[in-house]
Amino acid sequence: MSLTVTGIPLDQRGSLALADDRMRYSWAALDSVLNRAINAMAALDFPQARRVAVFAPNAAETVIAYLAGLEAGVSTAPVSYHLNADELGYILGIAQAGALFVGPETVETGLAAARRAGIAVVIGWRCPPTEGITPWEDWLAAAADTAPAADARPLPHLHFTSGTTGKPKATETPPGYFPPAENMESFVAILRTRATPSPGLVVGPLYHTGPLTMVRSMAGGSALVVMEHFDPEEALRIVEQERIAGSVMVPTHFQRLLALPEEVRARYDVSSMRRLAHTGAACPPQVKRAMIDWFGPVLVEAYGGTEAGTTHSITSDQWLRKPGSVGRAVAPLETVVIGADGQPLGPNEVGQLYVRDPSGRGIVYHGDPEKTAGAHIAPGVFTLGEMGYVDEDGYVFITDRVSDMIVSGGVNIYPAEAEHILLQHPGVADVAVIGVPNADMGEEAKALVVPRDPAAPPSADDLRRFCRDHLAGFKCPRSFDMVADLGRNVMGKVNKRELRRPYWPSDR
Ligand code: ATP
Repeated sequence: MSLTVTGIPLDQRGSLALADDRMRYSWAALDSVLNRAINAMAALDFPQARRVAVFAPNAAETVIAYLAGLEAGVSTAPVSYHLNADELGYILGIAQAGALFVGPETVETGLAAARRAGIAVVIGWRCPPTEGITPWEDWLAAAADTAPAADARPLPHLHFTSGTTGKPKATETPPGYFPPAENMESFVAILRTRATPSPGLVVGPLYHTGPLTMVRSMAGGSALVVMEHFDPEEALRIVEQERIAGSVMVPTHFQRLLALPEEVRARYDVSSMRRLAHTGAACPPQVKRAMIDWFGPVLVEAYGGTEAGTTHSITSDQWLRKPGSVGRAVAPLETVVIGADGQPLGPNEVGQLYVRDPSGRGIVYHGDPEKTAGAHIAPGVFTLGEMGYVDEDGYVFITDRVSDMIVSGGVNIYPAEAEHILLQHPGVADVAVIGVPNADMGEEAKALVVPRDPAAPPSADDLRRFCRDHLAGFKCPRSFDMVADLGRNVMGKVNKRELRRPYWPSDR
């Protein structure tokens, strides 16, 4: 019985809808498996919230679980599969999930946390037979393959932030809220009418709202190819082979693509790419320029956060006129810059960036009214924690995260400035600038440098000179330590709290 593809022209029903490293589903095949998954999802028992949690690396099944949740009126909370059992247990407690989905890599951690959180149903795909795990295929087989009725009950969705500045925060998005909201028309209804042969490529983890937006793009009829683990050359091969039209990346993906030897890059035809979005972290301007040179004017940068979706965006052509900008506020949102005295600042004045949501609602940290209140200065006026400014044309520039700012002798230093400069040094592969104790000044800037060639790292004097040539003295790091790795997470974020820890007697 075909529900979702009813309206898709017959000649497209056999075309690709969803693929990962191991599976390929045509729209017809996806339709059939989705019917079962929606029915099975709707039949779950929900003692608390009508919610399930997904704790699994990227796979076709991950996508199917999210889609089935949307259709079955079940909120699907994506959880980072890097968490340990304690961290997962904490999140499952907040989510009050009725069931947990796991993949082969997460079965043990998932099972341990589910037991602790009192979750009786753990469904696993591609897992070895394990007590306490219902195999995905059995779960599907037990459900009817007849067309389920779409359940459009409005549900708040829970997403968890990356935890870059502390414990992951549970953010609550009601249906119908701004992107990437679940205010899509019914997936079923849209699939009835549209299917496009140009797939999108998922390279980032589906627990993050950036890549997750791509799952929702399936509602627009866009096919998806999902990479389980990002490999730059493999990504290029897929782009050429599948004629990939869109993707959502983070700057680390760009850096890894650009690090491929010229002859490898030249081997692949990437001309099918029509929209290459990036988000999640600041993209060094030289990296962005190199990507635009390579892929053409298809880059779209989004600035936002788990709790707010995309708040600002900028396309390549605008960016070339306003290099360094993250774009203008996405209507109906507006940008407001607030000074230390709580008053709004004028063009080009640096202060804390706030987003004004004219609906007056703002963002919600689930179960944490204090944190919610702390992010707002007025109803609907909230911050994601960045410092920055807005130019006379309304383009927003981020100087840094408030939590990363270094205050040295009462002067504010934004580490991102020195990082952007140091990344242009030929001997520097990666860098993070952090504040470390200084007896006179309170703190001072230190650069942790990953050398391009560990056998011949650049000297501190050389790096100091390089900074001084491009930056005001007070913004230059006082010391330079060579490190093997900054421990960036899969979204390319550096946890500066962790990097600072060894230098401070107690973390601030
Ligand atoms: P936590 O809030 O748990 O510490 P996090 O803030 O990293 O983690 P996310 O919601 O994943 O959680 O990321 C949002 C943050 O990502 C923004 O506040 C900003 O710091 C950064 N970010 C997103 N897009 C951009 C961008 N285009 N340019 C610079 N930074 C960005």
